[in-house]
Amino acid sequence: MPPLLSNYYLTYKCNSRCTYCDIPIKAENIGIKETSPEIIIENLAALKRLGVKVVDFTGGEPLLYRHIVTVLKAAKQMGLMVSLANTGTLYPRIAKDIVGLVDDLKFSLSTTDAVAYSKERGIDGYTKVIESIKLAQSLGETPSIISTATPESIGGMEEVVRLAQDLGIIMYLQPVFDYCENDTLQKEGIEQIKKLAQYDNVDVNWAFMEFYLDGGNQKDKPRCRAVSSVVVVSPDDHLLLPCYHMHDERVKITHKNGRSNLDELWHSAHVQQKRKDEGSWDFCQGCTIWCYFEPSFYWPPDKYFFLHMKSKGHWAQQKLKLMIESKTGIKLSRHLAPRKSAAPQGVHANEHAQVSVAVQITPSQKSSRE
Ligand code: SF4
Ligand code: SF4
Repeated sequence: MPPLLSNYYLTYKCNSRCTYCDIPIKAENIGIKETSPEIIIENLAALKRLGVKVVDFTGGEPLLYRHIVTVLKAAKQMGLMVSLANTGTLYPRIAKDIVGLVDDLKFSLSTTDAVAYSKERGIDGYTKVIESIKLAQSLGETPSIISTATPESIGGMEEVVRLAQDLGIIMYLQPVFDYCENDTLQKEGIEQIKKLAQYDNVDVNWAFMEFYLDGGNQKDKPRCRAVSSVVVVSPDDHLLLPCYHMHDERVKITHKNGRSNLDELWHSAHVQQKRKDEGSWDFCQGCTIWCYFEPSFYWPPDKYFFLHMKSKGHWAQQKLKLMIESKTGIKLSRHLAPRKSAAPQGVHANEHAQVSVAVQITPSQKSSRE
């Protein structure tokens, strides 16, 4: 089976400073030379030859890559499915230029409390994110919210569900993974996510919840298919192996006469050996780096595969329901009851109220990381 996905890092720069991420501040990521759009387009053609179906443009904040519009247009023209997760803080300045170019447009948001938002992300951006989601909807896009549950944010996650329901969009909910010595969720936190997963508009990957509770990847019996299923490209034009977060190898992609060798690299004996070893290195023990397990769960057959398929079925149902609602105005989703207490949490109560009245607009759609 060819790789399904490419996690294409356009930049490591980011205007946020999330507590659970070191991408924009890692010494080796600072000051690297970003690739020209021409070179990226050659790599996209190589990914297409390889059989990749989905390209997730990521970062950093991918909207900080100067030539993003050119790259998105090229990916779309090639028939690749395009996914883009962004913070929502920079979206308005580019929104009109990328209409229709992203199949899965995700805005990362894990709280409805503006103060908590700033604490988690190091910038004041909550109001801007809400504006961005509504702007995307007004432009006919189908945005979604992608929420990372941390020990700090899980308690307020029900409010994010309410927000997604008010906006008429999907909320992708996942637990934070252990990456830069950040705190992760314990069993109680995962149980809370499972409870939230029962609500309408919420999408949770049941396989990953189970996997998380089971202790993550076991290096003696790896479930990871990072190399097999995901092609990871760095902003300075290297293939990263075995995955971005724990890569210990950077292989330079070469270009000749307008052609990238990325597909040949992937087929090389070296990368194929890495495929055989994926998930079995010491640093793979207990790994729950979400970005690689969703595609890994397509490899059957075990309980994670079946739970993954169940999650996909649920996601398709939710999408269909929202689409019918937006086209007919018929309300099919069960919304959570409004919060009883009007006590504000930071400024969120006001902002959320504005959303509730202003929103019953048309929804649109989704995507991956953060
Ligand atoms: S998680 Fe995303 S938004 Fe937050 S600092 Fe990292 S790259 Fe930036
Ligand atoms: S188990 Fe985790 S660290 Fe190891 S290759 Fe897979 S994603 Fe990377």
